[in-house]
Amino acid sequence: MAKLSWQEILGLIQELRKRGFQVVGPSSEGGVVKLVPLEDETKLETDYVRTLNSPKDFLLPDKERLFRYKSTATITSYGLKIRFPTVEGPCPITIVPEYSPPIGKLAFFGIHPCMANSIKYLDKVMLSDPADPYYKARRDGLFIAVLECAEGDEYCLCKSVGSDKVPKGYADLSIRKEGDDFIVKASSPMGSSLLMEESVEEIEEPSPKMKEEYVIDATDEKTIETKDPTTLLEGCTLCSSCTVVCPTCYCSDIQDRFSLMDPSNVERVRMRMSCQRRSYSSIAGNVLFLKTKNDRFKWRMKHKFPFSEKMYGMSGCVGCGNCIAFCPSRIDFRSFLGRRVA
Ligand code: SF4
Ligand code: SF4
Repeated sequence: MAKLSWQEILGLIQELRKRGFQVVGPSSEGGVVKLVPLEDETKLETDYVRTLNSPKDFLLPDKERLFRYKSTATITSYGLKIRFPTVEGPCPITIVPEYSPPIGKLAFFGIHPCMANSIKYLDKVMLSDPADPYYKARRDGLFIAVLECAEGDEYCLCKSVGSDKVPKGYADLSIRKEGDDFIVKASSPMGSSLLMEESVEEIEEPSPKMKEEYVIDATDEKTIETKDPTTLLEGCTLCSSCTVVCPTCYCSDIQDRFSLMDPSNVERVRMRMSCQRRSYSSIAGNVLFLKTKNDRFKWRMKHKFPFSEKMYGMSGCVGCGNCIAFCPSRIDFRSFLGRRVA
């Protein structure tokens, strides 16, 4: 354990950079704190509650090019002509595997425990067999320095969903702010080599203080299905912000993109998709599974709680409160799935 000054904390970031890491951390921009690549380490923010974005934006970026391929598409006077396999024999496309450029080793510096839990959740989703190679390439060698969160705001619920502590193996350094200084513990060999300390210590951070405490217990599938969220969702415009800012929402869609000037060069792109959008559950034949606002909200709640528990053995909600804080109508799912107790 070491007591470091602000300058020494900045020195750790410089050292990570020297070791080849792209360091990403919280920084204030236009009144909002965001995780950004810290080109200038003095922009690191250490007094904050929430960030607009989350580690998923770096580990699972939106609009990620998966590969390019050559198609036989041509522009004719009737429009675009593409040969499909069932119509004209085998589709003669040539896959040219071209991954997005590797970004090198990634380090998150100064994220809160809820965000460390979100990385654990994404790992469970993306690294379960078969592992997603794009995610894995970014995840391998990841360095995590967690900054203790002293007190949440009125939207935080990490304690209610069990994400108030850093999961084992999800911090290389654990940092606590004490006045102008920082108490830093190494929790992995990578962390101790950065801190130049021999010992690796178990993290024993206290829980953040909550402004409001909720018990979230109505989370089984049947209970969610029988509840009526109509009144709660009166102000919901289905804008999808709740899923965009959620650190664990990982649903995606695949698009093939090409220019009409050269339709033979196609790139396959993985785009974020939101369960709040109509297109999320629409299939051929104009069939729509999640027809109403209520259906989509309940689906989100089921995915976050019973489905995630069943599939990954942990809550898909890490209690960051982003979906409430950044919802234009401040729609708050806590009272739908539980009750306020303090
Ligand atoms: S952010 Fe709010 S308004 Fe937008 S879809 Fe989500 S709940 Fe509805
Ligand atoms: S559902 Fe809301 S509170 Fe839970 S992790 Fe997602 S954004 Fe955070």
